[in-house]
Amino acid sequence: MPESTDKQVSLRLLMIEDNPDDEALVLRAIRKGGFNVEHVRVEKSDDLLAVLRNKDWDIVLSDYQMPEFNGLAALKIVKDRNKDLPFIIVSGTIGEEVAVEAMRSGAQDYLMKDNLTRLVPAIRRELADADERRALREAQQTLRHQAYHDILTGLPNRWLLRDRMEQALKYARQKQTGLAVMFLDLDRFKNLNDTLGHMSGDYLLRSVAERLSLILNERDTLARLGGDDFVILMLDITGAEQAGAAAELVLKALHEPFVLDDREMYLGASIGIALYPESGDEFDVLIKNAESAMYYAKDQGRNNHQFFSEDIRTATANRFTIESDLRGAIRASDLRLYYQPQFTLPDGRITGLEALVRWVHPEHGMTEPDIFIPVAEETGLILSLGEWVLRQAAEDSIKMRNAGCSLKRLAINLSARQLYHQDTLDMLQDLVSRGDLGTDALEIEITESGIMQNPEQAVANLNAIRDMGIGIAIDDFGTGYSSLSYLKRFPIDILKIDRSFIRDIILDQDDTTIVKTILAMAQALNLRVIAEGVETKEQYDLLAELGCAEGQGYLFARPMPCDDLISFFRNQECA
Ligand code: C2E
Ligand code: CA
Ligand code: CA
Repeated sequence: MPESTDKQVSLRLLMIEDNPDDEALVLRAIRKGGFNVEHVRVEKSDDLLAVLRNKDWDIVLSDYQMPEFNGLAALKIVKDRNKDLPFIIVSGTIGEEVAVEAMRSGAQDYLMKDNLTRLVPAIRRELADADERRALREAQQTLRHQAYHDILTGLPNRWLLRDRMEQALKYARQKQTGLAVMFLDLDRFKNLNDTLGHMSGDYLLRSVAERLSLILNERDTLARLGGDDFVILMLDITGAEQAGAAAELVLKALHEPFVLDDREMYLGASIGIALYPESGDEFDVLIKNAESAMYYAKDQGRNNHQFFSEDIRTATANRFTIESDLRGAIRASDLRLYYQPQFTLPDGRITGLEALVRWVHPEHGMTEPDIFIPVAEETGLILSLGEWVLRQAAEDSIKMRNAGCSLKRLAINLSARQLYHQDTLDMLQDLVSRGDLGTDALEIEITESGIMQNPEQAVANLNAIRDMGIGIAIDDFGTGYSSLSYLKRFPIDILKIDRSFIRDIILDQDDTTIVKTILAMAQALNLRVIAEGVETKEQYDLLAELGCAEGQGYLFARPMPCDDLISFFRNQECA
């Protein structure tokens, strides 16, 4: 009985059949069933292979007994090429045993030529089943893809990277060639992500992935391990020189600004490189060593590449203990706040103090901030550390005032991460409103690079800080952008000339010129200037001669604890 259908379903039918009469019989039944058939008949294995290769099919109907072929052989050929293609045997002679064997080998059904009533329902059922199998397989492929790829960027993830790296290592061992593993971390990403929000952060990560994909070789692997950590695996590396050149290309590509909501963002990156075989011969070791080298690159001032070395191995071991020890230190109050006086030139009166944090490490003793501040910034510990500094400064300033020391100004260092964090603004506001630090006395110091991470947000937050009556100093001035045009945009009161220019000011004519220029710039913008790191009388005299009105440095006083400072004040006043 023909099926009643309202709409014609198209069917690409591959028929394996030697008898044209049977072909016509089957076709008629199918057409009656409402199919719009497009078909090809073959009766030899070569022809079968050819049509399978050249075209996609919806279903195969195959005779069983043919002069040059048989149904089971045809079945094997079809299933080898495409497991999902439905295969139905339509035969005049097939016995039970053969039918069972055919089903076992993957045939979907078998029918007798003299009773084709089941043909159309069988085709419909098989088409529906095939659709289902295809959907299932696609879902499985998607799952497999997701297991091996990073969802945000579509790049390989750690698992796929491990896979590729293991293959690459095998290949490199055989061919005796080298590999480079680059661990890349975006320099300003954490800050941007905190300040701009995760949507913008995600956008930036995708842009970085795209940009890097464009410049890499097809055989190299770019993977994202999470956060802003990317890894590049480069094959056929002949040595450090080649790897270094490749790393510089990557840095150059990331140096170009990223455009986000019509704004230009600068990211930059730090790259650590571990080479096979020199720096490891297995996945975990190479990744770990490349990562260590990356941290070293960050400490070297970011936006550069470094190769893994034994020195870095030692430094890394230290770094990890620093991180966990520092967590403990903030809790256990092993931190100390020291104060270094600032003084007028040439007459040497105290004009202010800079608070500098110290860490009394239970084993290593007094530890300088250059060792732990970078780790604190990297890990976010700087926020709780900064909170401790502010509270301690408030406590000490009350103590100093009670001891009769007149505090003119107290400067606190803020790292970039703190500047962009609302908690810091709240804490400053809180301190100012409680009056623990007299409002005219408080100052913050921030570096140029800190401001440039996100100039717009910096302007907003610095204005908010200024509105609280807090003064703003640019720390380490001269080492960064130092451009007049940006200085005008920020609410700044003081420039602190970086120690490096003062150190050689007597001998190095260039440094003298730089200091003169900074002084002229400051005068034009009506800013105060403090020279940092004044160690000798000659430096002191020259600075005074150049018209620098304030200084800070060992010549005058080293940073000291609050109690020592109180005695220092007393001696000063007596002198
Ligand atoms: P900085 O803000 O540039 O601080 C000045 C550094 O120069 C201090 O080092 C100080 O001890 C040192 N110094 C002062 N006079 C002289 C001198 O005449 N010669 C030489 N060679 N050095 C001198 P310190 O205390 O080791 O601090 C290093 C850096 O750590 C600071 O640089 C600052 O960036 C950071 N830091 C210190 N305390 C804090 C803090 O509480 N919060 C934050 N975020 N950063 C801090
Ligand atoms: Ca400072
Ligand atoms: Ca400084």
